[in-house]
Order: sequence, then structure tokens, then C-alpha cells
Amino acid sequence: MICLGIESTAHTFGVGIVKDKKVLANVIDSYTTKSGGIIPVNAAEHHIEICDKVIQDALERAGIKLKEINLISFSQGPGIGHCLRIGAMVARSLSLMLNKPVIGVNHCIAHLEIGKLLTKANDPVLLYVSGANTQIIAFDGGKYRIFGETLDIGVGNFLDAFARYIGLGFPGGPKLDKLAKEGKNFIELPYVVKGMDMSFGGILTNLKQKFNSKKYTNADLAYSMQETVFAMLLEVSERAIYHCNKKELLLGGGVACNSRLQEMAKTMCKENGSKCFILENQFNLDNGAMIAWLGLKEYKEGKKQNIKDTGIRPYWRTDEV
Ligand code: AMP
Ligand code: MG
Repeated sequence: MICLGIESTAHTFGVGIVKDKKVLANVIDSYTTKSGGIIPVNAAEHHIEICDKVIQDALERAGIKLKEINLISFSQGPGIGHCLRIGAMVARSLSLMLNKPVIGVNHCIAHLEIGKLLTKANDPVLLYVSGANTQIIAFDGGKYRIFGETLDIGVGNFLDAFARYIGLGFPGGPKLDKLAKEGKNFIELPYVVKGMDMSFGGILTNLKQKFNSKKYTNADLAYSMQETVFAMLLEVSERAIYHCNKKELLLGGGVACNSRLQEMAKTMCKENGSKCFILENQFNLDNGAMIAWLGLKEYKEGKKQNIKDTGIRPYWRTDEV
């Protein structure tokens, strides 16, 4: 069975094609800006312009024809309404045109399930760190649950906002990753874990103040920021691992591409006897392959959706699935 999955929750329009348990294609095209963040209308415009080409590229890469597709899936939420609507519209159109079933899936859970497919992880705690989302997720007691999350902005947006403030441009995460390696002096920053939740807004303000004081180098700020914020993420992840009595940690989301976060996660797992699983970057970023895979999995479990049930769900929570 072949599923074509469409991702469009935010800046990325992605199309993945999965046959049984094999990813045949995973093509993305992302909206970027020279300055400033995502403007929803412009991101949606980008998706409309390139959707056709991304679908064609994915089919070519998979070496199949559109009529060989058996199932269409798409990210139904959570995400930016303007962007979600384009993916949903394309999915519905393909479904009607090909007369094949369509399934809307939850984006956050797709990050968890693609990790289980492509690594040896069996039942991991997922540290899901992307632009807009920061959640520690696991399947526990018969359902997906969130064990900890951000109380304000996602860690990726936090990194991007800081990077933009110090003139690094967007997306800032990869640039901070590189800059932090040049840092030598640790500067104490607020460490904000409240119960199992985290907050990044105050740390961002504090970093901006320190930057404006001109007393610190950008490299030292980037280094100290990463050490502090990644320690927060891993503290909560580790407690979730113990609480759920699990033995595996999986990283997912764009920030999971960060070399220092990966290193710290591996160290933590080594020390507490759990296993750390890290995906190839193309599957950490928002991508269509994970949407295709989750669609296929849910279809095989018996999920059926009518076109009228395919409305977008911008605020769909992981624990509502
Ligand atoms: P996503 O929303 O999952 O596609 O992830 C996008 C986010 O990942 C953006 O905020 C990027 O800045 C961030 N990102 C990508 N690569 C890295 C990296 N190497 N280090 C930190 N953040 C990264
Ligand atoms: Mg994501």
C-alpha cells in the first residue's frame, strides 16, 4: 500500500511517499524570510506556489505515478491556520481526483511515529523540539500523553528570536549551534523549569539585556544559552523517562538537529542506562514522510475519514488523539 503524505503546518510544505514500511520520497520546500518571522499569509502563498512542484518531485523521486497512490494523508493540526488550509485543500483535491481515501493526522504524533519506524526505538519518550512546539511526549496507559511542555514559546522560536536580535538572521538555530562552539565562558542565565513545564520568554529577555550591556561576546552568550536551555529540556525528559518507566529517549523536531543537544542527550542516556535515538536531519525537520507513515498506520488500524471531517485543527493537542 502506498501513501502520499502532505505536511504544511508552518513554514515547510513537504510531500512524502511511503510504501508499506519504506520511505520512497521525502521532498520539502520551505518559506524563508530575510528579516522577521513567518507572516502566515505569505507562507500560505509560498505553499500554493510550490505545492504542485513538490508533489511532482516526490513522485519522480519515488519512481511512481500519481494513480498508483492508494491513500492520501495530511497534517490536520496543530499549526498555523493559513498554512494548514493549503495542505488540507491539496489533500482533499487529490483524494477526490484519484477517488482514494484521505486521512488527517496529528503532526506531533507523526514526529514520534516516524522515529519508531526509522530507528530501533520501540516505546520511547519523545523530546519534541521544533519552532512552535516544545513537548515531552510518550504513549503511556493506552494513549499519547504530554508529560511536560513550554508555557510560552517553542524552543525553536526562542532560538530564532535570539539569533535575529543579535543579527544572525533566520533560521537562527543552526547559526547559534555553530557560534556556541566558539564560546568559552559560561554566563549564568535564568533556569526556568516549573514542575514538568518550561518557559523561555524570560530567558530571552535576560539574553537581550546581556547582549545590550556589551559586556559579553556573542559566542559566550550562545554557548551559555544552549547549555542552560538544553539542560532544562533534558531534565524534564529524564524525569518523564523515570516516571513512565521507559528505557528510550527519541529526539525530534528541527532543534533536534542541534549538535550540542544531541551530545547532551547521549550523555544523559548513558548515565541513566537508557538508549538515545537520533534521526537523520531530514526526518527531524517538518516533513511529509512522517505524515505519510502515520496516515498509513492509522488507515491500517481502521481509521476512516469523510471529506467533511477533514477540516483543519490548528489547536489540536497531542493528548486529544
Ligand atoms: P521545525 O519547526 O521542526 O521544522 O524546526 C524548525 C526549527 O529548528 C527552527 O526554529 C530552527 O532554528 C531550528 N533548527 C534547525 N537546525 C537547528 C540546529 N542545528 N540547532 C538548533 N536549532 C535548529
Ligand atoms: Mg514539527
